[in-house]
Amino acid sequence: MSFIIKCLDCGHNAPYYPTSTTCPKCNSQWREAEYDYEIIGKTLRSKLAKRRSGLWRYRELLPVRNPNVSLSLGEGGTPLIRAVNLGMMLGCPNIYIKDERQGPTSSFKDRQASVTIAALKEAGITEMVAASTGNVAISYSAYASRAGMKLWAFVTSLVPAVKMREIALYGSQVIKITGSYDQCKQVASEFARQRNLYQDMGARTITSIEAMKTIAFEISEQMTAIQDPDAEVDAPWRTPDWYVQAISGGMGPIGVYKGFREMKQMGWTDRIPAFAPIQAEGCAPMVNSWKKGLEKAEPVTSPMTRIETLATGDPGRAYEFLREYVNSTNGVFESVPDEDAFRAMHVLAKMEGISAEPAAGVAFAGLFKLIRAGIIKPSDTVVVNCTGHTMPADPSILGDNWSRDVKFPSVDATPQEGLLSALSQVAPERFPKIAIVEDTTEARRLIRRILQSQGNFTILEAVNGREGLELIQRELPDLVILDLMMPEMDGFTVIEALRANPETATIPVIVATAKELTQDEKSRLGGQIQALMQKGDFLNDEFLEEVKALIK
Ligand SMILES: *Cc1c(COP(=O)(O)O)cnc(C)c1O
Ligand SMILES: [Zn+2]
Repeated sequence: MSFIIKCLDCGHNAPYYPTSTTCPKCNSQWREAEYDYEIIGKTLRSKLAKRRSGLWRYRELLPVRNPNVSLSLGEGGTPLIRAVNLGMMLGCPNIYIKDERQGPTSSFKDRQASVTIAALKEAGITEMVAASTGNVAISYSAYASRAGMKLWAFVTSLVPAVKMREIALYGSQVIKITGSYDQCKQVASEFARQRNLYQDMGARTITSIEAMKTIAFEISEQMTAIQDPDAEVDAPWRTPDWYVQAISGGMGPIGVYKGFREMKQMGWTDRIPAFAPIQAEGCAPMVNSWKKGLEKAEPVTSPMTRIETLATGDPGRAYEFLREYVNSTNGVFESVPDEDAFRAMHVLAKMEGISAEPAAGVAFAGLFKLIRAGIIKPSDTVVVNCTGHTMPADPSILGDNWSRDVKFPSVDATPQEGLLSALSQVAPERFPKIAIVEDTTEARRLIRRILQSQGNFTILEAVNGREGLELIQRELPDLVILDLMMPEMDGFTVIEALRANPETATIPVIVATAKELTQDEKSRLGGQIQALMQKGDFLNDEFLEEVKALIK
């Protein structure tokens, strides 16, 4: 395994020692690993077929001389999942989720911790310091325990108690700092300096950047396997159009960018995706600085977000690197309010079966925003990094009415009466009836799913206009959701028939259509329907509010 450490400031090359964290020539802390891309580029891909899934399958491109299998917890190799429902909902069908929740401690920090601890172990280090907003410390703690290392974990007092307990559970010393995350990092640095202990340096840690780049390798390898399963072994790998990630210090995208850059350099792919780093509005120094066109980041001194995982107020030089990557790939920085992140988490869970933590919700809220703004185009292929799992659901996500309280009646009722009464409190006897008339199976499923996940309705379905009309006349639903372009009988004809019959004339109709309507078509609908929804609009809360308002 041959690689060198190159200084990003003066270009000096030095051999790698995990404990030497600065350039011996100019003292810069910004350095990166360089490999023999010529040889590895030609030889590694043909070896991959025989290797197990996981981050170490790319070991020739990692800064660990002898990967120690006994430290591994199965890091990397997380699935790339097609988000079919979200894609339909947003009118952007090629959305993929890199599911980093499936790492050993449920966040993408497992890559960083596994590679860093392996390198430290190889160098004989037995004690280290890390400042963390939670996940880094959890992950380092798990790997440190396997490596027989002690971790001093500095966390801010805002880190959720469940996360702190998990850090302690692995045997790390938790040090709770009442102050901002940037202050917490300062205390940790000072502690490490005084005791002469190795300290994690975030985006300046060579092993961390190297670990994160495996996300890029996996995305391209997996995307090729999904989209082009019969490709020749040496055919170029696929690259998405976008890489979207919620960021704090920016280590993830800096590493992922390096991964894409190396693949391109080795001829494995022919391009690098556009980068879209997303921050929480209450702590968005990089987004704000980028939007102002600044070359250096203006720090945020008092972060105002409840999403502690993303509370880096002073990104330092990481911003300068990311700014260059975002600009050179025609990407964007974007920020979203906490509420949008909580809502996005909820949508992701309901539509894709993926329960993520609020920080990952920020990435999805950013995705929604960029699609709505037309920056991410409907035909673009997007990979969103689902960076971490959820902690027990925060009350602010669910609102008030997510459970029903059931009280049994007084003691003298019979058990049967008691049970019936209890059941009647669980749900009323009759739910509002909604008829979905839509010829595309996926669209029917999507509308059904949206309705089911937001309220209790009896849902009836018909697959074309003629069946739909019969269904409506028979069942007299409280609301009809109608497609326009359908075989047998189109939506326009259905509406005219409904309006002509006194029994159905007043049933409200929401038209849901994938196409842009012409002026002529709009006037044909005029006055006869209650709402018009383009299919990309379904995510809007408006859709459900419309439904609820019409049903009353
Ligand atoms: C650390 C973390 C982030 C931010 O990562 P960076 O790339 O270091 O900015 C996002 N989401 C989760 C879940 C994290 O743990
Ligand atoms: Zn240097």
